[in-house]
Amino acid sequence: MNPLLDFGGLPRFPEFRPEHVAPALDALLAEGRASVAAATQAAATWEAFIAPLDDAKERIARAWGQVEHLHAVLDSPELREAYNANLPKLTEFWTELGLNHALFEKYRELGACAGFAALSPARKRIVENALRDFRLSGAELPQDKKTRFAEIDQELSKLGAKFSENLLDATNAFSIVVEQSRTSGIPGDVLAAAREAAQKAGRPGWKFTLLAPSYGPVMKYAEDRALREELYRESATRAAEFGKPEWDNTPLIASIVTLRKEQAALLGYRNYAEVSLVPKMAQSTAQVLAFLEDLALRARPFAERDADALRRFARSELGIDNLESWDVAFASEKLRTRHYAFSDEEVKQYFPEDVVMAGLVRVAETLYEIRISPSSAPLWHEDVRFFEIRDAGGTRVGQFYVDLYARETKRGGAWMDSAISRRRKGRLLQTPVAYLNCNFSRPVGNKPALFTHDEVLTLFHEFGHGLHHLLTRMEDLAVSGMGNVEWDAVELPSQFMENFCWEWDVLRHMSRQVESGETLPRELFDKMIAAKNFQSGLDMLRQIEFAVFDMRLHSDFDPAAGRSALQLLEEVRSRVAVLKPPAYNRFPNSFGHIFGGGYAAGYYSYKWAEVLSADAYGFFEERGILDASAGRRFRDEILAVGGSRPAAESFRAFRGRDPSVDALLRRSGMIAA
Ligand code: ZN
Repeated sequence: MNPLLDFGGLPRFPEFRPEHVAPALDALLAEGRASVAAATQAAATWEAFIAPLDDAKERIARAWGQVEHLHAVLDSPELREAYNANLPKLTEFWTELGLNHALFEKYRELGACAGFAALSPARKRIVENALRDFRLSGAELPQDKKTRFAEIDQELSKLGAKFSENLLDATNAFSIVVEQSRTSGIPGDVLAAAREAAQKAGRPGWKFTLLAPSYGPVMKYAEDRALREELYRESATRAAEFGKPEWDNTPLIASIVTLRKEQAALLGYRNYAEVSLVPKMAQSTAQVLAFLEDLALRARPFAERDADALRRFARSELGIDNLESWDVAFASEKLRTRHYAFSDEEVKQYFPEDVVMAGLVRVAETLYEIRISPSSAPLWHEDVRFFEIRDAGGTRVGQFYVDLYARETKRGGAWMDSAISRRRKGRLLQTPVAYLNCNFSRPVGNKPALFTHDEVLTLFHEFGHGLHHLLTRMEDLAVSGMGNVEWDAVELPSQFMENFCWEWDVLRHMSRQVESGETLPRELFDKMIAAKNFQSGLDMLRQIEFAVFDMRLHSDFDPAAGRSALQLLEEVRSRVAVLKPPAYNRFPNSFGHIFGGGYAAGYYSYKWAEVLSADAYGFFEERGILDASAGRRFRDEILAVGGSRPAAESFRAFRGRDPSVDALLRRSGMIAA
């Protein structure tokens, strides 16, 4: 039997073959179309048309979710081919669904009938949001415009996938093998991994790549400036006109922006950003740009101070007269070490994988009154581990996979994905399952994997998304977990969780020096705290630069006016950035968030949600950071409710007032505590 068609339990990864994709998807899409047809004929009640439709949609999403997951974490030429061959069918189905006028009418009928008032608030919101989404996916358009709208959807989905693939291919295409003299400064464990990689390639020496666990440490530690420059240039010019023409993302960017603008016009909006903001917490492009400009203004003096200090230090201590982009991480690390007398490498020795995982589990168990324990499931790779969550009464709440290490077959970054969503099906309550994916360094030799503090933060972040998905109490698919949560509020639980990685009470239970077994010394912790806001001004401006670029690219930028996205970025940089990259930098070509992912006209949401998360965490600072009653309130008002009500309402219910930016500025060292 085709494992993708088995919905009885957890995904059967070991039995999966790329040739399963097409038949499973064809069967499910046929079934889906039959369900849609039946729904349009059914009575306009929740039970008669929404519930059966949810069944069909869920099966498609679950099966395709596995394919998408494997494509992201265990790519192969065969799988990629199957993925690309089937993606258009899937896009076509969802587009069709979004454009189905009969279905739209059915929702309208339900929304207008007497039965609507009797629905739960969550279900009312589902119907209202469905109507909104129908409108945004072109359901009200006349036929000729509908056809064009669907064509654009197809095209955009293909372009987005190609953008990501080009970036992955361009990233993997580069490696450099160097002799020992060029490895000076690079930490031992990174060198051991580089040595192993070279040996695997049958070469003497040390092999470095553009993958994060290799690229990051070289930029930060390599004394060899030319080596840093070469890696920087290779990374900053990935998928651009300097490399293989078939991997150049430049024409893709122009097409994507143009098509998005056309789609917005079809819907009657001035630009794509306006469309993007309709289902978000932020009210308008102007509000977002004003929010970003306010933060930029308040961060700028701190960023200038950071940049001056770095330039002065590089000149006087490192003999670098002109601080270049490939010197920034290196000089920053040296300056930070000088100021705070510790390095990331030193800190890393205190964070072996098992201790970090145990610490994370302890925080979640204390705050949310749950038990997390290892469990077993069919896995896609030997690196993966599986856990289950039970509530205080022993009832299973959810399960999750953890896939921590970087692999050539895995896409970059860290992310959480849903495998199964919480949902009631008659008497059966389906519990949620999540995937947590990271790109950390794997164990080398017989040492455990060691995580930098940044990696620990990343893990907590993704786990926060996981908890949002797993601790939901919603029983309707569309609002379960992160379902229907506004994009710009969706990072609240994840960024919120990061705060615990800065607490002594958490870290002293979550650290063990890998050689000596000692916990993190208080003195080192104090230095970490002191260093926490090191260059926070520069960091904030960098994020604002990306967010403003994204928002303007999708609002006041006209792709037909002869200016390129790169030129727009340069203009934004001239106003926002304090440190300027070299002219060859092609950042847009690797800005996967907005071209290959779902963040178009939404990158600001990271900062927006940081305001929410910093302010929410303020409540814990007031009550006690591991206070169980505060945890219960956070779970009840934020995590459990999913998208069943507006995020602004959930925030007020938790905090007792509207969000304020002061907590973020304070936590970034830009307002006195
Ligand atoms: Zn996130």
